[in-house]
Amino acid sequence: MIMSGSASRLPILQEEPCAHAQRQAERAARALAQSEAICRAHRVRLTPIRRRVLEALYATHKPMGAYELAEYLTPPGGRMAPITVYRALDFLIEQGLVHKLASQNAYIASFHVDNAPETTAFLICEACGGVDETTSAELTYAVNSLLNREGFGPRAKLLEIMGRCAHCGGDAISRA
Ligand SMILES: [Zn+2]
Ligand SMILES: [Zn+2]
Repeated sequence: MIMSGSASRLPILQEEPCAHAQRQAERAARALAQSEAICRAHRVRLTPIRRRVLEALYATHKPMGAYELAEYLTPPGGRMAPITVYRALDFLIEQGLVHKLASQNAYIASFHVDNAPETTAFLICEACGGVDETTSAELTYAVNSLLNREGFGPRAKLLEIMGRCAHCGGDAISRA
């Protein structure tokens, strides 16, 4: 039984699904199908363990840590070594199906928003825990110009921006 009083005092801590959870549920099946197509195009195998890790990540709108994934995927009475999860994650990251959020030390499944632009920004909401993957041609252009100017050879182009999503009151925070 949840006390209604505490929910109204701390609305951002409520465990009700946020807008991210709703959107994740709507988009997960399509994104998973896209990931499978990418594996076929790359001629690589989505082995059962790789698929289970990927499906676990698509099942939630929040980033998951490797140990959290291992625990989630452990069958009743069984055992799942974190190294097994790490290996699967390495593969999924290499194929561009999963991203590691360094700031969270956790992983999220890709929604493949970056069809043409190469730089992806992750908007990480510290209130609801949801992450939005987004990009634009302008962002990619700006980052590429900056990298050229600095003579820096990027291995990955991921931006992690922490704060509050629109749903959790991000609009109210001054961007000045
Ligand atoms: Zn939020
Ligand atoms: Zn959210």
